[in-house]
Amino acid sequence: MKHYDIIIIGGGLAGLTAAIHLANAGHGILVFEKEPYPHHKVCGEYVSNEVLPYLKSLGINLKDHKAVSIDTLKFSSVKGIVLETKLPLGGTGISRYVFDDLLYKRAVASGVSFIFEGVSSINFKTFVFKVVTVNNKQFTSRITIGAYGKRSSLDKHLKRNFINRKSSWLAVKSHYKLDSFPENQVGLHNFNGGYAGLSKTESGAINFCYLTSYKSFQREKDIERFNTRVVSKNAILKNFLNLAKPLFELPLTIAQISFHPKKPVEGHVLMCGDTAGLIHPLCGNGMAMAIHSAKIASERIDFFLKEKEPNRNKLEREYREEWSRTFKKRLWLGRQLQKLLLNPTVSHWGITLVAKQPWLLKQLIKNTHGQPIQ
Ligand SMILES: Cc1cc2nc3c(=O)[nH]c(=O)nc-3n(C[C@H](O)[C@H](O)[C@H](O)COP(=O)(O)OP(=O)(O)OC[C@H]3O[C@@H](n4cnc5c(N)ncnc54)[C@H](O)[C@@H]3O)c2cc1C
Repeated sequence: MKHYDIIIIGGGLAGLTAAIHLANAGHGILVFEKEPYPHHKVCGEYVSNEVLPYLKSLGINLKDHKAVSIDTLKFSSVKGIVLETKLPLGGTGISRYVFDDLLYKRAVASGVSFIFEGVSSINFKTFVFKVVTVNNKQFTSRITIGAYGKRSSLDKHLKRNFINRKSSWLAVKSHYKLDSFPENQVGLHNFNGGYAGLSKTESGAINFCYLTSYKSFQREKDIERFNTRVVSKNAILKNFLNLAKPLFELPLTIAQISFHPKKPVEGHVLMCGDTAGLIHPLCGNGMAMAIHSAKIASERIDFFLKEKEPNRNKLEREYREEWSRTFKKRLWLGRQLQKLLLNPTVSHWGITLVAKQPWLLKQLIKNTHGQPIQ
């Protein structure tokens, strides 16, 4: 059975960031990822600029990969109210196809080992983790990071509370070509039961990604009908869907998206990114939080592994506390905003108020985002 300092389960943004950070600090890392790179993922593909300095410190400059600079948010309601505001920190448009792949290549260059197989179980006994893959290969480690995203069979295996609660959201994403779409703009457009993001990526393609409740989707049953009969009730989205040319043969979809609170440490596994908690996509901060949580975990783990007398209770307590201090308020605010936005009466009055008091929108953006991290 091969032994590593650290095993990371999931090679998305959180897992890959932690892998690079910890490999650069001199640790032996094994990442399990169930999909080969590169691949498309359901995501709005708008990255908050708060993570750019830290990514640079890991040797990743998104601008070297033709990522797009975004400084304006355009928001619209079903009833036709349109708001535009400058984004305090701004953001970057880059596809997950390119972003995850460039982190993967960076991780390989830093000496990280990869196994492209799903993990089916993790057990912690006498200070050692035993990790078993779906093909029954077994590995051990001193530390295990859970970075396997929103939902996995591992959550059942670890008996996590949120996994038995109903999750009533699904998401759809596709790339489109539309030359007239402004490069510096991210759109957030409301429709009955959900909202859609629109922004440009490094290839010039526009990412169109939406989140909707099952209740709203179920009535129409297929994506085309849903786009025509529900999404297109918003005039901006109707115009986009009429003019833009789809670049994917079929849109990508994911279901059972859960926004219920989770715990950042379970079964002694340190959880990062969506595995620790998913912020509502309307905040445009999930990727930054995934990267930031990986940084926090990596700093604590590096310290733990280099200590003469490592204290696991202290490691877990301090990670839990720092994670909560950094993200809990943002996650809570995201949940409240989503509730407001999806209640047609309340959202109409809320949006009318924000249209009259534009500083309110800036405050909301500020409170759902973090400060630049080094
Ligand atoms: C509709 C929607 C739109 C969004 N838009 C935005 C946006 O515009 N901006 C933003 O910042 N955030 C956005 N987000 C959030 C963002 O996508 C996530 O927060 C981010 O992807 C989290 O990264 P992660 O590394 O935690 O998880 P992921 O990127 O999901 O990575 C997890 C990885 O683990 C792998 N995996 C899963 N199970 C196993 C297993 N058992 N064994 C091995 N590997 C496994 C998966 O294949 C995957 O590659 C959006 C989310 C949704 C749902």
